[in-house]
Amino acid sequence: MDEVHGPIERALAAIGERIAAAGGEGVRIVAVTKGFDLGVVRAARAAGCGDIGENYAQELVSKAPALEVDAAGERPRVHFIGGLQTNKVRQIADLVDVYDSVDRVSLIDEIARRAPGAEVLIQVNSTGESSKAGCRPDQVGSLVEHASASGLVVCGLMTVGPTDGDPMVTRQGFALVRRLVDSLGLEVCSMGMSDDLEVAIAEGSNEIRVGSALFGPRPPR
Ligand SMILES: *Cc1c(COP(=O)(O)O)cnc(C)c1O
Repeated sequence: MDEVHGPIERALAAIGERIAAAGGEGVRIVAVTKGFDLGVVRAARAAGCGDIGENYAQELVSKAPALEVDAAGERPRVHFIGGLQTNKVRQIADLVDVYDSVDRVSLIDEIARRAPGAEVLIQVNSTGESSKAGCRPDQVGSLVEHASASGLVVCGLMTVGPTDGDPMVTRQGFALVRRLVDSLGLEVCSMGMSDDLEVAIAEGSNEIRVGSALFGPRPPR
């Protein structure tokens, strides 16, 4: 009997090859479904994506039906990866397993209140761009401490490469975040997207967040 290989399976295989070529092992792939509809979320799950990433609270809530337990009793690990206003945490608390974009005390406090014991990553602005989310590198330690003291489980750090894709800035930023992960004794180093996952893996990423390389170009918002 032939196995069915749909477009998402093929894209996953291609990403697996890119990871291997970059020297990565055991790298977790978060399938970023922002901008795509529920059918894409279901197709991603059927293709074996166990980690789903969403950026917008409203959109995530609208996709709840695609995130339920399946016939095999499995549900995906849902990552919230976008900028998060504190007043939105309550709406998504039942849906989110990991908050990947935690970058300030007020957000930590609200997550600790609405989702006690939740897993979080602290997002670092590793490029110094003023437009970028994430805390300054010198704030990471105190945010990790504050989140832990608030009962959250700090799994690691997350960062986004520079918007202009400058390869030198990308590499330096990723190297900085990897050093921070190590110095704080954390596990997860979430960095790398469709266009810069090779550099991220070379610099020690163990979790990449991939959208367009899996699902094609995003429909405009
Ligand atoms: C959109 C997004 C991604 C995925 O980007 P692609 O270039 O489509 O792979 C990853 N991480 C974050 C934080 C995002 O906002």
